Amino acid sequence: MSRFGNGSAIAAGRVRTAPPSDGGAIAQRRITAMPAMPDRFWGKVDKTDGCWLWKAAIGDDGYGRFNLSGGGQIMAHRMAYKLVKGEIPEGLVIDHVCRNRGCVNPWHLEAVSQLENLLRCPGWPGHRTHCARGHKFTESNTWLWTDKRGRVARYCKACWAVRHEIARKKKRRPADESI
Ligand SMILES: [Zn+2]
Ligand SMILES: [Zn+2]
Repeated sequence: MSRFGNGSAIAAGRVRTAPPSDGGAIAQRRITAMPAMPDRFWGKVDKTDGCWLWKAAIGDDGYGRFNLSGGGQIMAHRMAYKLVKGEIPEGLVIDHVCRNRGCVNPWHLEAVSQLENLLRCPGWPGHRTHCARGHKFTESNTWLWTDKRGRVARYCKACWAVRHEIARKKKRRPADESI
């Protein structure tokens, strides 16, 4: 009896099926996308069964802050999203599905448009689908403005264009002023 023959019986209980070839590729891509930071990042997170709570700095707006080693800060939940789910598509914001701003659980985070994010907010008058003049608040007809306190206002572009046109006609300046 060869020792390999015996070994195969033992190995049968231990050896797991090999992961599919593309699974390995995904794993590798994740590793290269992650610099040495993750331990330092996840060490500041208290992973409960539900929300993952950020234990380090929290800003006035209730969102966690993470200090990057190269200088500068990033919103902790945005970092968590990037580390686990990948880059945030341009123009999208990260919405907390759980409504807990201090949470960095990537599975509670979703990349959505800013308008979508507002419509999901319980305090936002999302039931108003049209402006005072009856223009529909679509993605393309809506401007969002965030003030210093983080409050967001919604403007109708169609109305804005009309107002801008009126203002422009009112103060027509002499041509020589346009230097
Ligand atoms: Zn959460
Ligand atoms: Zn309007």
